[in-house]
Amino acid sequence: MVNQKGLASYCQDCGRCVADTGNHSSDDRLIEIIVDEVVRSLTGSSKPLQPGHDLPVIPLGVSNRHCHITQATLEKLFGVGTQLKKYRDLYQPGEFAAEQMVTIIGSKMRAIQNVRILGPIRNYDQIELSLTDAITIGIHPPVRNSGDLKGAAPLTWVGPKGSVYFEECAIIANRHVHFSTEVAQQFGVEAGDFIKVRIGGIKGTVFENVLVRVKDGWKMQIHLDTDDANAANVRCETGVEFYGKM
Ligand SMILES: [Zn+2]
Repeated sequence: MVNQKGLASYCQDCGRCVADTGNHSSDDRLIEIIVDEVVRSLTGSSKPLQPGHDLPVIPLGVSNRHCHITQATLEKLFGVGTQLKKYRDLYQPGEFAAEQMVTIIGSKMRAIQNVRILGPIRNYDQIELSLTDAITIGIHPPVRNSGDLKGAAPLTWVGPKGSVYFEECAIIANRHVHFSTEVAQQFGVEAGDFIKVRIGGIKGTVFENVLVRVKDGWKMQIHLDTDDANAANVRCETGVEFYGKM
């Protein structure tokens, strides 16, 4: 069995940060943020990219592998009558990381343990992985928006009381940003648009094809998976710059 930890530190919604099962002290986190900011200012990357734009930076949430689950599947894996138990609130109101975690097994019998369930209960069963995770267990998931599971990769989910095989459940989540309607207007974008964003620092990177998602009440946040965050050498609590529409 592989009990992997990603390289980034995880904190947020969709699995970000909280899905990590390791400990990461807040002092360490603070030091890293300060170091990042020093590097950013030394390399000049804190300068605005698009002269004249005064849009706020978008807080980053790094998405570790995680799953969304139906009540029926939860009961198959954890026993009849099981409810999701809250482990921690996530950044977006109403969303939470659950105490329960599953093991996932690919067709080559390679497994990843401790994949965190994120609540509340959904009306579909979905695993969101990084490409690195997918390679580890030997599957080929497509890059998709959450909930779009046609053609998703197969996996077996295992819990303490049972297991379920899903022919289509695993995806690599699209990069996406969460905006409220007001903030989307401020950025001049709409739901379904794709934007570019830039992350500064020693491994500064521009990410393309970031899907704009809009819902009233959402807090502004961009979600990248651990592969993307590791590529840019960043962790949660980094500010990401809007770099224009695609
Ligand atoms: Zn998200």
